[in-house]
Amino acid sequence: MLEKQLHGSGGYITAEINEEQAKKADLGVGKLFLAPIGKLEKQNMKTYFCKNCEKGFNNSPNIHLEESNREEVADNFILVERGQYTCEQCNGIIGEYRVFEKKDESGEIGEAKFSNNS
Ligand SMILES: [Zn+2]
Repeated sequence: MLEKQLHGSGGYITAEINEEQAKKADLGVGKLFLAPIGKLEKQNMKTYFCKNCEKGFNNSPNIHLEESNREEVADNFILVERGQYTCEQCNGIIGEYRVFEKKDESGEIGEAKFSNNS
């Protein structure tokens, strides 16, 4: 596991992630982002910084589930859940997450092409 700073719109979260997640989070601009990773478990998030409060916290942010109706966003590719990491003090959004799933694990993803680095 790697301990990394992951940036969102309202601050950043320091979390333990694996190499595969680090690759997803790296959009090639010199820092890592929360949104492409998927959902982080609370126990893997160590600290966070809230831009609104202008301070850091020595615990994980809250996880706010926004929606969990399964929505097909491309052929064989389903948005399962989306939500936000929120500040426990001001409830501001630190960053967002999305969880995707392939409807048929053996099938190909249609429109949206995602590289598989495994
Ligand atoms: Zn805050």
